Amino acid sequence: MNDMSTAPAFDHRVENNPDPVPGARRDEILADPGFGRYFTDHMLLGEWTPEEGWHDIRVVPYGPLSLDPATAVLHYAQEIFEGMKAYAHADGSVWTFRPDANAARFQRSAARLALPALPAEVFTASVDALIRTDIAWVPQGEEKSLYVRPFMFASEAFLGVRPSRHVTFSVIASPAGAYFPGGLRPVSIWLASEFSRAAAGGTGAAKCGGNYAASLLPQQQALEHGCDQVAFLDGTEHTWVEELGGMNLYFVHDDGTIVTPELSGSILEGITRSSFLTLAADRGHGVVERRVSVDEWRDGVASGRITEVFACGTAAVVTPVGALRWDGGEAVSGDGETGKVTASIREALVDIQYGRAEDRHHWMHRVSLR
Ligand SMILES: *Cc1c(COP(=O)(O)O)cnc(C)c1O
Repeated sequence: MNDMSTAPAFDHRVENNPDPVPGARRDEILADPGFGRYFTDHMLLGEWTPEEGWHDIRVVPYGPLSLDPATAVLHYAQEIFEGMKAYAHADGSVWTFRPDANAARFQRSAARLALPALPAEVFTASVDALIRTDIAWVPQGEEKSLYVRPFMFASEAFLGVRPSRHVTFSVIASPAGAYFPGGLRPVSIWLASEFSRAAAGGTGAAKCGGNYAASLLPQQQALEHGCDQVAFLDGTEHTWVEELGGMNLYFVHDDGTIVTPELSGSILEGITRSSFLTLAADRGHGVVERRVSVDEWRDGVASGRITEVFACGTAAVVTPVGALRWDGGEAVSGDGETGKVTASIREALVDIQYGRAEDRHHWMHRVSLR
């Protein structure tokens, strides 16, 4: 396991919030945080210019940013983000999960969006700095975590179309409760037939806000059809299953093999995705990354060849998929309960994240002893 002996790779100043949320109110929030509704007392900010590179990284009181109306991100969406969590273990120590993988993906996303690379050690040290400052906001308890959102955006006030010459990096954090407070519940999925999330050669493999903007209308249509989430097909042939708006998909076959759509260039490579593939292989499952057609999904759940379908990502960890619906039909997998394979790999992952199982792959990074 990595420990805190590696000192932060940069000097940052901390300006303490003179008016933090009172402890009693914070405890109330941590008892039932929901998701993305409350934010901690501080945020991290950093600046980049071509002349100075990354500089002025600082932890300051959480609060609104003041932006010129001509700020480039508001017009051309030159923006990327990450999503990760800090977990409190039973002994009070606080850990993140594979922050090096988030740092590397942040660099890949930056390259696609013509944003400057943030060195991995600065990324991790920044996330650690904010978590340590707001350590009291890391909730204790089953399935709770502090959701951490690093992001970077074009902050130059300029309407010309070119990569911004002023870029801002920020990290904010928000306590999160169990995604499914009533326990895991299979969701229903609407098949987007008219719209794609991403195109060949587009930004689908980058974690950028624009991909989410493109997913909102189809997601709204899913809700109108009584479904919880939308599944996207490839943008060229409209045949191959890609992913949900923010989660990767898996198909468990009747011989125990787990199939997930291969990275096509327009699928976002989830860190939960790769961790799940590793844990599935550890548990003796065959693991296959290949193209999956929507017909294979429909026919497979109808014939029983596909026994479980699930989606995964950092926010919800694992979401069992119950039904796939489209105009004029549906294909139901399972019996409305979470499948056995889905549940057991999920447990293996959260046991590592919460320190209840040995971290054989050295995925955990200790942020604080508390
Ligand atoms: C973030 C994200 C995922 C999941 O990635 P994790 O690293 O597992 O959280 C999947 N799909 C999309 C489109 C995403 O933005």
